[in-house]
Amino acid sequence: MTGITLALSKGRIFEETLPLLAAAGIEPSENPESSRKLIIGTNRPDVRLVIVRATDTPTYVQYGAADLGIAGKDVLLEHGGGGLYQPLDLNIARCRMSVAVPAGFDYAAAVQRGARIRVATKYIKTAREHFAAKGMHVDLIKLYGSMELAPLVGLADAIVDLVSTGGTLRANNLLEVEEIMSISSRLVVNQAALKLKRDLLQPVIEAFAGAIKP
Ligand code: ATP
Ligand code: MG
Repeated sequence: MTGITLALSKGRIFEETLPLLAAAGIEPSENPESSRKLIIGTNRPDVRLVIVRATDTPTYVQYGAADLGIAGKDVLLEHGGGGLYQPLDLNIARCRMSVAVPAGFDYAAAVQRGARIRVATKYIKTAREHFAAKGMHVDLIKLYGSMELAPLVGLADAIVDLVSTGGTLRANNLLEVEEIMSISSRLVVNQAALKLKRDLLQPVIEAFAGAIKP
C-alpha cells in the first residue's frame, strides 16, 4: 500500500478519534457501527482505516499491517509496546484501572495481614506488576470480559478492571478500593513506516497533536 493504513477499534475509540481525523482532513466514508466492512475508505484516496478488536491494535501496527493506530494505555501495557513508536497521548477514552472487591470483603485488612488473594482480570501483566510492587501475593485469573461477575460467584476475591463512572461496579455491589493508574488512548506508529512514509505520516501526527484536548 502506497498510502497509509490506520487501525482503530469500534465504539468509544472510533467515536473519540473522529475529531482528530477531521483535524487531519480525514473523513471516514462509512460508519463501522453500521457497516460490516473491516476496511473503510476515507475522503482521502491515500488513507484507509482498518477496524480491529481493541486488544489487537498494537499487533497490527507492530507487524506493519497498519502504519498507525490508536490504543488504550491498558492495552499497550499488556502488549509490551515492542516495535511501536508512541508519539502522542491523545487524551481520549479516559478512565482508570482499579482494584474492586465485593462490598463485604475487607481489602485493607487482607493487605495488612499479607493474605494471599485471588484476583480476576484481563490485565494480567499490569496487575502482576502492581501487586508485586506492593509486596502482595496474589493468584491471578485471566478473564476476557465481564470481570465484575467473578467475585459475585466465588471465582475471585477481587478484580482489576477499568472504571469510568463506577456505574457497573455499583450495579454489581462492588467497591473500588485502589486506583492503579489513569488510562487514556495513545497514537502508536510502526517504527519502519515512520521512516519509509514520513512525508505522509508526519502531517497526520502533527494534526492530531494540534487537536488534542487538555
Ligand atoms: P469489548 O468491550 O468489545 O470487549 P474492549 O473492552 O477491548 O472490547 P472497548 O470497550 O471499546 O474495547 O475499550 C477500548 C479502550 O477504551 C480500552 O482499551 C480502554 O483504554 C478504553 N476504555 C475501556 N472502558 C472504558 C470506559 N469505561 N471509559 C472510558 N474508556 C474506556
Ligand atoms: Mg469494553
